[in-house]
Amino acid sequence: MAKTETFVTEITPRSQDFSRWYLDVVRRAELADYSPVKGCLVIRPYGYAMWELLQQALDSRIKATGHVNAYFPLFIPNSLLTKEAEHVEGFAPQVAYVTHGGGEELEEKLVVRPTSEAIIGTMYANWVQSWRDLPILINQWANVVRWEKKTYPFLRTTEFLWQEGHTAHETEGEAEEETLKILDLYVDVCENVLAMPVVKGRKTESEKFAGALRTYSIEALMGDGRALQAGTSHNLGQNFAKAFDIKFQARDKSVQYVWGTSWGVTTRLVGGVIMVHGDDSGLVLPPKIAPYQVVIVPIGRENWRETVLPKAKEIADQLRAAGVRVTIDERDERPGWKFSEWEMRGVPLRVEIGPKDIEKSAVLVARRDTREKQSVAMDGLASRITALLDEVQASLLQRARQFRDEHTHRASSYDEFKQIMEGRPGFVIAPWCGQAACEAQIKAETQATIRNMPTIVSPGGTCIRCNAPATAEAWFAKAY
Ligand SMILES: [Zn+2]
Repeated sequence: MAKTETFVTEITPRSQDFSRWYLDVVRRAELADYSPVKGCLVIRPYGYAMWELLQQALDSRIKATGHVNAYFPLFIPNSLLTKEAEHVEGFAPQVAYVTHGGGEELEEKLVVRPTSEAIIGTMYANWVQSWRDLPILINQWANVVRWEKKTYPFLRTTEFLWQEGHTAHETEGEAEEETLKILDLYVDVCENVLAMPVVKGRKTESEKFAGALRTYSIEALMGDGRALQAGTSHNLGQNFAKAFDIKFQARDKSVQYVWGTSWGVTTRLVGGVIMVHGDDSGLVLPPKIAPYQVVIVPIGRENWRETVLPKAKEIADQLRAAGVRVTIDERDERPGWKFSEWEMRGVPLRVEIGPKDIEKSAVLVARRDTREKQSVAMDGLASRITALLDEVQASLLQRARQFRDEHTHRASSYDEFKQIMEGRPGFVIAPWCGQAACEAQIKAETQATIRNMPTIVSPGGTCIRCNAPATAEAWFAKAY
């Protein structure tokens, strides 16, 4: 008992040390654990259940937009990775190699995929002959490895899980349309499943994917005012098609290179959910991503297993039949201990049921997000619970949006810009000249990077730092 008591209370307050709070929540809520391999994370069942729900939400949308899933190998011959010059340069510092297999040194070392453009591009070159073979709209669910010096659970790990879409198109216009369509799909999932508002826009040249023509991203604001890149979608142009010789006979009989895209989101979104919604008591989960949407805690005197539990089970069955993910906490612990344990685990609704509730034919329902409690009649309980889950989902998005808006400022001078970055963290919107050197200076002076640019239109006026004519309005933040 003493051990379990500490289990619940041992979370550093968020306001005191956000980073410590995050690590405590990840560990205490049993989302993940460190592994014997440095930088690699074990995703525990509760955290993996969140990932599975996110996967389902993404996968159904990816398929609904005409894509299909496939699987490509984990290993890539080194010579393939080196075919696209910018790509290899971008990934070289993070690549892990296999040099031996079956007790022998390999003739050619193999790359453990950091991303799959090279292997997929090689296959597409074999699969595409004519414009009739296009578009190819393939997605893969996989693990990738990027050797990281500094890791952080979910947000940055050496091995991580993701989906990577790789498409090939007849025209530049189609590729751009695909790139933006996926960006919108990601916005939909982040906002409507994770209740995490995002800013979508284009990355700068220095922040784009290695080998891409253009990269677009969605950026979310975490509870400590730092931004998190939550997903990216790349228009690859013909760069990879030329490197991997993906050619087709066009409608006019000419031979042309395909236009490519690639796009992905990763397990870092699980970290995003924790950081956007959590509070001092632990996780706060949006119902759509909650492994359990409802926990039923039976309350009672010694014989609660005989008096209360059967009714609790009946309610659980009703809720399950209505499509609600529900669990009953039958452990021999105090109800108060169970309450804080499930609060820490972020379960959106708690149903308390005791002998008196049964007499009144009602239960007590507590919301995790607002902590409000209300008595709800057992008659029609499932539809009331379903409605409440929708309310919690909507209110978490609204709350996160309000936080984001309150932490988004427009700077009118570089002094003001620096002041904001030092004090109140968050997004700062400012005009920028489009020069990489200026962007690098801003980063060196303030630690803020350009997260993205929602529109590439000159806002008029001059760059926040160098006073050259502004080419776009950029969203700056300190980022994870
Ligand atoms: Zn400038």
